[in-house]
Amino acid sequence: MFRVHCNKCFRHRKTDPTVPFHLAQCRHVICGPCLGQSSQERKCLLCGQALNTIQINRDMPTCVANYFEDPLRFQHLYRKISKFQADQRASDNLGFYRQLQQLEQNKRQLEGFCKMEAQLNRKVVEEKKRIAELRSYIAYHEDAQKRRRHSAHEGTHTPEFKEAWNTFVSTSDTTQSDKPSGRFCLDANMNSRSTRSRSYDVDTKDFRI
Ligand SMILES: [Zn+2]
Ligand SMILES: [Zn+2]
Repeated sequence: MFRVHCNKCFRHRKTDPTVPFHLAQCRHVICGPCLGQSSQERKCLLCGQALNTIQINRDMPTCVANYFEDPLRFQHLYRKISKFQADQRASDNLGFYRQLQQLEQNKRQLEGFCKMEAQLNRKVVEEKKRIAELRSYIAYHEDAQKRRRHSAHEGTHTPEFKEAWNTFVSTSDTTQSDKPSGRFCLDANMNSRSTRSRSYDVDTKDFRI
């Protein structure tokens, strides 16, 4: 332990091991006899500050005992503490840096997902439009098929067909022309229904419906 002596009478504890020594709050060391002299005034004999002391022995608190320890011990402890805390700060900074990297990666990934979502939304719009067109196409052909079946069942043609047929017949009657109309085409049934046999310069199979 650090060499202890009285700051008032300069007595050494090593030479007077039976004499108690005290550490005052003002950081002055006072021996028992000198402390007895100042006990009435309760003021330090050296600096006059209020006297509040604790006896120097092995039972004194660590915060007081540290004043008598070898400073090198605290220097080593200081280095250990400094290195430990520096390592902890470096680890904390590394964690923060990795979090930033992860955030940047998440940001890039999110931007990619947003672009993909926009592309998919455009694709959905295009596909909906295409589906609507296909449905319209299917409905048109289903309706046409129904009309053809109905005509075959009734043995007659659709009103559109009849109108076209009447137009064709009336045109043929007024012009007395045997040339085929560009607006209408004959088929086998029509040939059989016609009251007059007709002959054409072109192959009529190209005009069949
Ligand atoms: Zn003394
Ligand atoms: Zn003092």
